[in-house]
Amino acid sequence: MYCYLSLIRNAVVTDTHINVDQAEIEKFSALAHKWWDKSSEFKPLHEINPLRIGFIEQYAGIKGLSMLDVGCGGGILSEGLAERGATVTGIDLAEKSLKVAKLHLFESGLSVNYQNIPVEQLAAEQAESFDVVTCMEMLEHVPSPASIIEACARLVKPGGWVFFSTLNRNPKSYLLAVLGAEYVLNMLPRGTHEYKKFIKPSELARMTRAVGLNTVAITGMTYNPITDIYKLSDDTDVNYIVATQKNA
Ligand code: SAH
Repeated sequence: MYCYLSLIRNAVVTDTHINVDQAEIEKFSALAHKWWDKSSEFKPLHEINPLRIGFIEQYAGIKGLSMLDVGCGGGILSEGLAERGATVTGIDLAEKSLKVAKLHLFESGLSVNYQNIPVEQLAAEQAESFDVVTCMEMLEHVPSPASIIEACARLVKPGGWVFFSTLNRNPKSYLLAVLGAEYVLNMLPRGTHEYKKFIKPSELARMTRAVGLNTVAITGMTYNPITDIYKLSDDTDVNYIVATQKNA
């Protein structure tokens, strides 16, 4: 009986295709205790957080909306959205990061529903249930970004908004995001980003359009290493953020 059950369980595990790169999950798990240390490897995410929250607010609004944060990590964006009055669910596949995210709620006093669940599974269970879906700095870490994008499109309500941010792929982004950030400035651990997984805005637009998400706006997030300041700009060569809206 035991053997039979474990055979079934193994079969289920093998049959369920999870769109995740375990090495990526391990990378983030190893740093999980630092999510809320603003001078750590996660400093860039803390710095860009107000910029992306402002961008989301400008297009979709935040207060009173139900929001899903896909690949939420330690909850930097999830908490920012909750703080501004959204009802937020945050999902990730790194259990350690989710633990840190949950613990941080005691400190902030905010409320976020954190879950360890693949976005594709949530899409099968809870289609069209969020006003806004965010998926930031995550697509460049998964085997199939198209599958994540499709799931995000299924999860958002008709007429709702889905926001993506990722890294562009060109010699300049290689120079700045990989060589500059990981080897010269040592802002990020070496191996954080894999150049071939970077996504051009045209590729992202093709993938979103294919699942009924129309690109409404695209903005660059640029970093000036001399002033140590990030800002939104027209320069989408390296980091960029996109607002898409689902057909009503
Ligand atoms: N979105 C957060 C964290 C970005 S770091 C922010 O911008 O502040 C990338 C995150 O994606 C990590 O937390 C990592 O664990 C998560 N991740 C990687 N692959 C994933 C997958 N297949 N499903 C869900 N989360 C994933």
